[in-house]
Amino acid sequence: MKTSQLLIPTLREEPGEAEIVSHKLMLRAGLIRKVAAGIYTYLPLGLRVIRKVEQIIREEMNRAGAQELLMPLASPAELWKETGRWDFYGKELLRFKDRHERDFCLGPTHEEIITDLFRREVKSYRQLPLNFYQIQTKFRDEIRPRFGLMRGREFLMKDAYSFDRDEAGARLNYQKMYDAYHRIFTRCGLTFRAVEADTGLIGGTSSHEFMVLADTGEETVLYSDQGTFAANVERAEVMPPEQPENDPMKPMRSVPTPNCRTIEEVTTFLKVPANRLVKTLLYSTGKETVAVLVRGDHAVNEIKLKKVLGVSEIELAGPATVEKVTSAPLGFAGPVGLKGIRIFADHAIPALRNVVVGGNQLDTHLIDANWQRDFSADQVLDLRNAQAGDPSPRKDGILKVAKGIEVGHVFMLGTKYSQAMKATFLDPQGKECLAVMGCYGIGVGRTAASSIEQNHDERGIIWPYAIAPFQVHLLPVSQSEKTAGATTRLYNDLLAAGFEVLWDDREDRAGVKFNDADLIGAPFQVVVGDKGLADGVVEVKVRRSGIKSRVTPSDIIPYLRKLSAEADSAPAV
Ligand code: ATP
Ligand code: MG
Repeated sequence: MKTSQLLIPTLREEPGEAEIVSHKLMLRAGLIRKVAAGIYTYLPLGLRVIRKVEQIIREEMNRAGAQELLMPLASPAELWKETGRWDFYGKELLRFKDRHERDFCLGPTHEEIITDLFRREVKSYRQLPLNFYQIQTKFRDEIRPRFGLMRGREFLMKDAYSFDRDEAGARLNYQKMYDAYHRIFTRCGLTFRAVEADTGLIGGTSSHEFMVLADTGEETVLYSDQGTFAANVERAEVMPPEQPENDPMKPMRSVPTPNCRTIEEVTTFLKVPANRLVKTLLYSTGKETVAVLVRGDHAVNEIKLKKVLGVSEIELAGPATVEKVTSAPLGFAGPVGLKGIRIFADHAIPALRNVVVGGNQLDTHLIDANWQRDFSADQVLDLRNAQAGDPSPRKDGILKVAKGIEVGHVFMLGTKYSQAMKATFLDPQGKECLAVMGCYGIGVGRTAASSIEQNHDERGIIWPYAIAPFQVHLLPVSQSEKTAGATTRLYNDLLAAGFEVLWDDREDRAGVKFNDADLIGAPFQVVVGDKGLADGVVEVKVRRSGIKSRVTPSDIIPYLRKLSAEADSAPAV
């Protein structure tokens, strides 16, 4: 295609609204434009990338035996009420009424719709297993849409839903999707890792997120330095300490700690390291207030806590509640003498001796407090975030930490939805059984954006070959007839050979064309000019390495074929 026929509004300046590199470059290279917060138009170049990612997904889903269908964006409230999610989903679900005052929402995900289809259309075990997928627009009214396509409100997702006769069948489908995801993200040229993910209140162990490793990622991943363990911090288990401390217990004393409310203030004032402190955090569930004890250098894992409490929402208690429960202002809560609420201790706590705790009194802490002698808890369990340096819960090394972008998620659902919506089939004995389900998502735009996070330099995007909007950027740099003739011949030859070519036919200076070409990031640039043609050559530049070669026009096709065969496909780690 010719540049003059496409809208490619490249920007020289950094767009002020963008914080991360993929968002900046998608705007600068003219791939997307914002319409409203989290809502974008895909311009021609951006759409070409999206379509490439979709095509890879489609091929791998088909190969894995899934069948494509397309469900609607608008979905009736009745189905969501059946599963309870009309109430549970909260404000991310964008609701509206039609002209007959009937409630609808814009689909943020499609378990309800597909389960409804299943119960109407599938009757017998003979029809199973089934796996349906679609690539479709989702709407989630995200509280903080940001980073361009990374976290939009309207975005493209591939979602798939499997139905099986039993748990074993569901596991097989899960594994097929897991393997397909590996192939998809490898083909997209991404460096990624599959990590164990939290399964929410549904429970079970089978959920993996596919994380693209990038410093700008919003997710925290822990992985073992020697073994295979890798998990989202939300989920990563923590082992109890192997060796409890056994120093002799000292008598507990109360000390003044004026204005020391935070761990940092207390440790600085008392000159003790944070791991000698026990933090007491008060949480409200809406129904009750609970106290959580963790070591001063540890962070409470609220997901683990929610699971223990069996609730979907918790929040730190406000000053009034803290004062009511501890009789002291915020910042001095402690477990000694704390009454009337349930206390949950992280399992690192009982192993400690002679610790500092809040004194439940203004400007007061207790030192040399001891587990069992001075305080205890109703339950002791794993309640904190794993952190770098912890032993791996699989005993295969020490944990390291990395940032990741969640591009895909595979999830064993079990019978949560089939039970709520009575999605059953008849087994060989004619007995009604619940279908065992799985669901599998990939963010299409987020995958494209993640690729830019991993593949760029100070001049612009460096597309992996498989998802580049064009593979060859043809850049005539003289206005002569000779150059025009050679460019036309090259363009036609390259197209005939199957390359996707963007021909910069503008009458701009060479510098402008080179800048735009580096910004747009096609893997290969072919520069045609009078000087080279006088020597019988054109110049080929590989965007990733910057290496330039002089090639005769008749050699160009075999040369680019060889380069493209060698191009990317980053290994999975
Ligand atoms: P997140 O924790 O990032 O909000 P999620 O757990 O809500 O993601 P899923 O419901 O598992 O995401 O959706 C499947 C996939 O859809 C995700 O892995 C991600 O790639 C993509 N996705 C989810 N929310 C968004 C969004 N707001 N914008 C773009 N892509 C998204
Ligand atoms: Mg989300």
